[in-house]
Amino acid sequence: MTDLNSSLCITSVYSTALELAGIEVPDDKDSADPIVKALAVKKLGCAKTDRTVILNPDAVAMWVYQKYTEKFVQAHLCSDVSVPKLSVMPSVTPVCFASMYSGVMPEIHGIRRYEKPVLTVETIFDSFIKAGKKCAIVSTSGDSISMIFLNRNMDYYIYDTVEEVKAKALELIERDEYDLTVIYNGNYDSTMHRHGPEAPESLAELDDNISFYKELSDKIDSCWSNHNVFFGFCPDHGCHEIDGGCGSHGLDMQEDMNVIHFYAIKKL
Ligand SMILES: [Zn+2]
Repeated sequence: MTDLNSSLCITSVYSTALELAGIEVPDDKDSADPIVKALAVKKLGCAKTDRTVILNPDAVAMWVYQKYTEKFVQAHLCSDVSVPKLSVMPSVTPVCFASMYSGVMPEIHGIRRYEKPVLTVETIFDSFIKAGKKCAIVSTSGDSISMIFLNRNMDYYIYDTVEEVKAKALELIERDEYDLTVIYNGNYDSTMHRHGPEAPESLAELDDNISFYKELSDKIDSCWSNHNVFFGFCPDHGCHEIDGGCGSHGLDMQEDMNVIHFYAIKKL
């Protein structure tokens, strides 16, 4: 059988963000994304990034991108590169974000099923904090990103709705206090579970994720002309349709495992 899985894993996000920011990467972590590293050399030379902003739209699959590419026009225009990435198993939210932000596979970080314990392995937040940097998470209550990275010396902005998350994220860019800002939007995931990945309701949430990515990009451009910025659109896993017109994920299948990431490096 032809293996159509992506060769770069979502675990590469951890080392990519660290290397670009000039923070030493521990030996046990997955290596940085070679495309983004090359982009950084091309755009920044030896200079480092001093701001990192990652938007995490939940469950945006590679096949959704391939089937609805026209919806991603703005994502392309505010990014330098798009890179296919492979998720981890089981392809459920807490397992995947634990891997993305610790740079290691589930058997090492310890979250191996749908549960949301506070991680004890070194995460991107710990590494940035150790390097003297300030971190913030902007997310919705009860969601994985709001729970598994708790108990760090950083700021957590947790709200009931994605609209509040978006408003706070834009405000934080204006305030310019954080070196690393991670923003979560679970609306495509929650809608596609109920209505299916291709339902109009779900695709409207996909559109909303992409237009917010552009809004963030524009905000960074207008507020941060004095910073080198690593900016990303990084889903955790994909999705597939199941009986009853609903959506699901968590399996070792291409629909669930392959995602697309977008990245930009903005030079001061
Ligand atoms: Zn998810």
